[in-house]
Amino acid sequence: MINIKTKLPEWGTSIFTIMSRMAVEHNAINLAQGFPDFNCDQELLELVSYFQNKGFNQYAPMQGVPNLRKAISEKINKIYGKHYDFDKEITVTAGATQALYTAITSVVKQGDEVILFEPAYDSYVPDILSNGGIPVYIPLNIKNYSYDWELIQNKISDKTKAIILNSPHNPTGSLISKDDIEQLEKLTRETEILIISDEVYEHITFDGEKHISLASSEELSKRTFVISSFGKTYHTTGWKMGYCAAPENLTKEFRKMHQFIVFSTNTPIQHAYAEFMKHEDRYLSLGKFYQQKRDVFINEIKSSKFKLKPCRGTYFQLLDYSTISNKSDIEFSEYLTKEMGVAVIPLSPFYESKESQSLIRICFAKTDEVLKEAAAKLEKL
Ligand code: GLN
Repeated sequence: MINIKTKLPEWGTSIFTIMSRMAVEHNAINLAQGFPDFNCDQELLELVSYFQNKGFNQYAPMQGVPNLRKAISEKINKIYGKHYDFDKEITVTAGATQALYTAITSVVKQGDEVILFEPAYDSYVPDILSNGGIPVYIPLNIKNYSYDWELIQNKISDKTKAIILNSPHNPTGSLISKDDIEQLEKLTRETEILIISDEVYEHITFDGEKHISLASSEELSKRTFVISSFGKTYHTTGWKMGYCAAPENLTKEFRKMHQFIVFSTNTPIQHAYAEFMKHEDRYLSLGKFYQQKRDVFINEIKSSKFKLKPCRGTYFQLLDYSTISNKSDIEFSEYLTKEMGVAVIPLSPFYESKESQSLIRICFAKTDEVLKEAAAKLEKL
């Protein structure tokens, strides 16, 4: 057997795959991996078929079809007040996962440090490591998952290449604030530090709060790759489509890599999104849509022993089970899946230490019936 020296020695299969597989094996309700259990809009499906039948079935331009890049540029301008040149500053990608990998790969070299915040989405660290970068982990404050700017300042070094941010935040549902943006402006001013801003849940915020995009800071947008995903916004996670908006000099480097990673992405789907996005209420109403789902779940589970963390955005809710069990979060998640029929995600895989904190994540992008059925099972504990 050929001996391959692995680039990712500590990595196995992602927790999302593991828990989804376990849900299927044990016929459990899957509140684990983040995806809706309902279909996308019929009109979007018809638009995809329309463009397929019209013959839009060959390679799209490497950077994405112009109509879609224009629609993205207009959307960002309208809601965040920042103009990105659709030709030079927006690239359509195969989901946010590819955009994140491409952005990191285009700037991170051997020995560069990249700051990220824990709990952290699972793809950031492998992206850094596979480029020879060094992840620098900073915990979000345990109480409300806010940023400790003094600690961040102390972690900056002359090797700091980039900072990865994620707001609305998976898995905690916390949001970046205006003050955070000001602190970040101060911290990076006069430096060459880049920012990779994962904003895939940009349209899913609750209780009147608005997402603050890094695009809305004139100063920070000059050093930022803003990344989003159509999968989250249009209930189409399986289509794997997203985009990256970044200033021309960053986009130039991004596209050098992009062309050799995927070259281009699905043509008829790009045309369909470009049409579908014209009605802004389709994304502007998403917060209200998911707030109702969050509240159905919260209401159904309120007399249980679980303690709920505040959820201000995303379609994830953290549950504290410390008064129910002293199992580790991995054991408890397995128990819920196998014995109680509800698959969830343990929080420890989002930390380098992998230490359990008696917290699990559920995804409420599910029909109300499924949410009620799952909550009824969890209430029994
Ligand atoms: N982002 C989704 C989640 O957090 C999962 C995507 C994946 O499985 N890679 O559940």
